[in-house]
Amino acid sequence: MRKKVFVRTYGCQMNVRDSEVICGLLQKAGYRISATDQGADIIIFNTCSVRKHAEDRVWSLVGSYKGSKIIGLVGCMAQNYKEQAFARDANISFVVGPQDIDKIPVIIEKVLRGQSPSGDNPLLFERKLWETDSSIRPEEIYHMGFYQDKEHAYVVISEGCSNFCSYCVVPYVRGPLRHRKHKDILTEIWEAITHGITKVTLLGQNVNAYQDNQVDFAKLLCQVNALSGLKEVDFFTSNPKDASIDFFKAIRDLGKLAKRLHLPLQSGSDRILKLMNRGYAAKDYLALIDSYRKIVKGGRLTTDIIVGFPTETDEEFKETCALVKKARFNAAYIFKYSSRPGTEAAKIVDELKPNELEKRHKKILDLQRGISKELRSR
Ligand code: SF4
Repeated sequence: MRKKVFVRTYGCQMNVRDSEVICGLLQKAGYRISATDQGADIIIFNTCSVRKHAEDRVWSLVGSYKGSKIIGLVGCMAQNYKEQAFARDANISFVVGPQDIDKIPVIIEKVLRGQSPSGDNPLLFERKLWETDSSIRPEEIYHMGFYQDKEHAYVVISEGCSNFCSYCVVPYVRGPLRHRKHKDILTEIWEAITHGITKVTLLGQNVNAYQDNQVDFAKLLCQVNALSGLKEVDFFTSNPKDASIDFFKAIRDLGKLAKRLHLPLQSGSDRILKLMNRGYAAKDYLALIDSYRKIVKGGRLTTDIIVGFPTETDEEFKETCALVKKARFNAAYIFKYSSRPGTEAAKIVDELKPNELEKRHKKILDLQRGISKELRSR
């Protein structure tokens, strides 16, 4: 009887794609993929470490299975906790970081052999496998042909990040920025088209920084746009410090590209932006979105904002509100600052009191909701 696996995904689109890769690999290795945990023999948590809240949810759910299933902790939390994850919850059978997901079928095989009384290696330590060391993923894992959606596919163009924004755990858990070869990306999309896919979203922590020899992100967009059989192309996510005029022109000129841009601002205060190590000032950001709007007429603009970064004063918070008023985003994802162990920002002890954090969060949410509503009604 083939074992059933359920993969539960947390976090960003990159994780959604990683989960598809894991399902593709396991299907190829003979496992059945289950849409729920009901009747699943193996449960894989593909996790996110960007916010403490996301981690807490995973720990609570892992604990709820109480030894009834084989549990794998995969992704950013796996990389973050490594072997300590086994001490945190004895239910966990294996721990695999984001760079090592190609090894999951072999690891599960070992766990199953270790657990079977007739297995050739019934030692307890076989249940405690962890793999979090590789820095490069093998290209083959992107060609498994497993898509959750019939028409849409996520396509990873680069892995990791070298920006080291001071609040962010991604460079530590996903490693430095590595670009896939543009020919491999085009091949993957071509394969997806033969599976019936008509829409793709290109993924990277910072897609604007893409570079493969002479091919930068604007050129890659142009090559993807030219693939016949493809109807829509989108991408996620951009970083203001690497956004260029050529990139905006590509959004304007390429027929299959969605006329929208998600450009994370994070703060409207120059002192906080510097502490965040974002690499731009508020005036640079405003100039950039001004160029975007002049070039991509009527293009949508969305952003991310972090409220309550350590030491953020009321005045600095007001600067962020003022920038939000000026920028008039179509929508904004507004997050309360969440301290992540190991990051530079976590060393700044002066965090905002929870009630003040709530107050600022609500204030800016209300402000943005009003702007979004007004823009929608037009
Ligand atoms: S650009 Fe900054 S926020 Fe985004 S993944 Fe890289 S370090 Fe994190």
